[in-house]
Amino acid sequence: MTASKTSSNTEFPLFSDLPLIEPIQSALRSKGYTIPTPIQAGAIPPLLEGRDFLGCAQTGTGKTAAFAIPILQLLHQSPAKAVSGAPRALVLCPTRELAVQILESFTNYGKSLRLRFAAVFGGVGQSPQVTSLTRGLHVLVATPGRLQDLMDQGHCSLSRLEFFVLDEADRMLDMGFMPAIKRIVAKLPKQRQSIFLSATMPPPIEELAGSLLHDHVTVMITPPATTAQKVAQRVMFVDKDNKRKLLESLLESNAFSKVLVFVRTKYGADRLAKSLKSSTMMIDAIHGDKSQGARQRVLNGFKDGELRVLVATDVAARGIDVEGITHVINYDMPMEPDGYVHRIGRTARAGATGESISMCDAEEFQQLRQIEREIGKRVPVDRNHPYHSADAEDEVIKRDASSGRKKTSRGRPTSGPRAAASGGTKSGGAAGRARKGFKGSKPSTTSSFGAPAAGGEAAPGRRRSISGKVKKINNSTSKPQYGYSAERKPDGNSSSGSSRGPSRGSSSGPKRKKR
Ligand code: AMP
Repeated sequence: MTASKTSSNTEFPLFSDLPLIEPIQSALRSKGYTIPTPIQAGAIPPLLEGRDFLGCAQTGTGKTAAFAIPILQLLHQSPAKAVSGAPRALVLCPTRELAVQILESFTNYGKSLRLRFAAVFGGVGQSPQVTSLTRGLHVLVATPGRLQDLMDQGHCSLSRLEFFVLDEADRMLDMGFMPAIKRIVAKLPKQRQSIFLSATMPPPIEELAGSLLHDHVTVMITPPATTAQKVAQRVMFVDKDNKRKLLESLLESNAFSKVLVFVRTKYGADRLAKSLKSSTMMIDAIHGDKSQGARQRVLNGFKDGELRVLVATDVAARGIDVEGITHVINYDMPMEPDGYVHRIGRTARAGATGESISMCDAEEFQQLRQIEREIGKRVPVDRNHPYHSADAEDEVIKRDASSGRKKTSRGRPTSGPRAAASGGTKSGGAAGRARKGFKGSKPSTTSSFGAPAAGGEAAPGRRRSISGKVKKINNSTSKPQYGYSAERKPDGNSSSGSSRGPSRGSSSGPKRKKR
């Protein structure tokens, strides 16, 4: 695989500036979208040119539209009848919820196109899925296990495939899907356009991307810290036994109108939802033990506003994309700092702001400090609630002292992996222009648009370029309006065919690559 180059003029266009066909423009207008997010601005033009694409981005960045829109347009521009069991585009993703959401995106953006879409995923009966495959389709969204089953039974063939998308590749790895993915990948036609998305790039993912992509364009979106920066975060020290009462007292405020509460276990989720049901009727739980139908019903209820509070485990919450979540509450602190950023990223979606409250008891000190290292700052303590536990806070202070962490006068750690990178961001210069440019003008810089949140550099492994080097985000720039920041691999005169770099509005049409 050769990582290839991108246009030397990174632009921040409006959707109306992009060479998108009117039915898609109109679908975007009806969704109220005018400004592409950085990953969309970075992905759509080269994908329309037929290039392979690597996006380092997590949910909430607009990554689904970044691949769905160009695929829809390219399918529409080379029309072909839907063939039974043989899609032209395949999107592989890790969870059923995400599959449903991706299908929804294709359906929304492609509502005026004569294209057929379907999704297949486990946890539900397969016959309706077999029916939708047999009826003929252009785009298939699938989780790997179910797709493999259907392929083994002869219900689905990848022989006509032109577009292959692997979404949330790192999650697939975590969830043990790698063998299934490899078996599916072995069946892909050599000539195809491949799109690879992952929030992080650990070595196995890098290797997989290397085997799939050819002459690709890369866009890296500043991960967790950016999301974390948009969310107003607080920690409340509380004794374990008082957490439920604290939650109840928080929910007395009408400002908590759409609340996602995270707990550690499935049992804990059910128990909490049940115990709160008496006081707050509009509450339910979602977790992996519920049937797909039940999960979808609960999720729809939350989306539609019938439920005010949703109690979720981390796995069940993967891929939850619900607009207007006002608060994320960590009833149990997450075990992994990454989990924290994923959790609080459920609010502050697509440029909105949101609030998160973490309930920390005396035993959760370690998790709190790990999270703070991950996001590069201390989470402000809110003692202004009836269940503040001085004991829990003292415990944290005691543990801090015994672990020898020095603090600055503002309570920030003076050492640790992130402290060094917490220098502020500057506006002005190229990035200042980039930010304005996001609304229409052109920045003169080529290599990055936007910057990481204060807190700066990512954890190792998070910023790896495909060549294995850790890419550093330019810390002297300011982030663009959307709240995301992104970095494109710089353009240049690569030996790998920079002559094929994207030329906006080119009429040459997409080129599928042969491997
Ligand atoms: P995703 O990262 O694909 O899960 O998208 C996150 C959320 O952003 C979804 O609710 C999308 O509908 C929304 N979204 C995607 N693109 C845009 C855009 N350009 N403007 C506003 N919202 C968007």
